[in-house]
Amino acid sequence: MLKVRRINNGDRAESEYARFLSSNFSRKSRLISGVFDESMEKSEFRIWNKRGSNFDSVNFYPSWFEIKKQHGAQPADLMFARQKVFGEVFQRQLGELTVALIGCGGIGAVFAEQLGRLGVKKWLLVDPDRVEIVNLNRMPGATRQMADNRWHKVEYVKQLIKKIYPTGSSVKTIPTAIENQTTQQEIAAADLIIVATDNHRSRQIAQELALQYMRPLVCLGTHIDIQADGMPRMYCRITVPPLGGGWCLMCGNIINLQKAALESAPVEIENLASQAGYLEGINDPAVFWLNSICASTAVGVIQGMVSGFLNVEEGLDWIYQFPESQWYKTNTGYLSTPDCYFCGSEECDL
Ligand SMILES: [Zn+2]
Repeated sequence: MLKVRRINNGDRAESEYARFLSSNFSRKSRLISGVFDESMEKSEFRIWNKRGSNFDSVNFYPSWFEIKKQHGAQPADLMFARQKVFGEVFQRQLGELTVALIGCGGIGAVFAEQLGRLGVKKWLLVDPDRVEIVNLNRMPGATRQMADNRWHKVEYVKQLIKKIYPTGSSVKTIPTAIENQTTQQEIAAADLIIVATDNHRSRQIAQELALQYMRPLVCLGTHIDIQADGMPRMYCRITVPPLGGGWCLMCGNIINLQKAALESAPVEIENLASQAGYLEGINDPAVFWLNSICASTAVGVIQGMVSGFLNVEEGLDWIYQFPESQWYKTNTGYLSTPDCYFCGSEECDL
């Protein structure tokens, strides 16, 4: 609700200008005026009503992404006609964005398909695994032939992107684990890191890279279990830790460090641990539709981050629960952990 303010003498010129703008142009314009401090970091803006009798303050959320270069006037791509309502700048930003996708399985593939259709053309795909028959219940466009021919998952997702953009896209595939040093350098060079794997260790490394190189990180996951009474519980979770620390996947308990340590252990120990029931392993239940809710929401979150209509400065952690059909939003204020070993503000030698 707008509070009516009395226009004082200092505001009279702006008040008249606001009225002039809204009454002299066919498209009703409104005046937004503001000031910056000396460092150009803090600002205050206000938007005037059409009669110039009142104003309200407005906040601009800065986008986390800057357009790297201007290509001059390019003809608008007809492919994006139905989303041009979001603006040419938005579309151009997506076209310039390099996205590192760690995990090209059931969630990663749906995510790539959707963010690709939205306009992202530059990809780095990281996953050591190959397409298997057990994946075919949830990977769009994946075939039995791909499984028989032991396609790498990164090559399968590359094909999804190349079907959208036969030309004008760049997709680099790295069929290794994220532990690989060269792979980590490639990931650090991307504008945005997405981690959609089913293990804690890779999420931990992705988070460490994001903190070290100040890259935005989006973490996706789903979980299904069956309760004692036979009722299934299904969750999907989208987490965006704040860019420069404050809380992270580790101190926010989004990943389990003990499991991460077990996952990085040699194979023999891993086998022992899995016999003792410490690792859930590859038999975790997963379905296409739940993965899709997760991937779709994450793509929406990224659209909000790029456009600036979603403020993720404090981070974001959303959990969807089915069949209750409930979204839970973690109060990120409670996640803040100043003495976290990984993201804490106190400098320490890692
Ligand atoms: Zn932390």
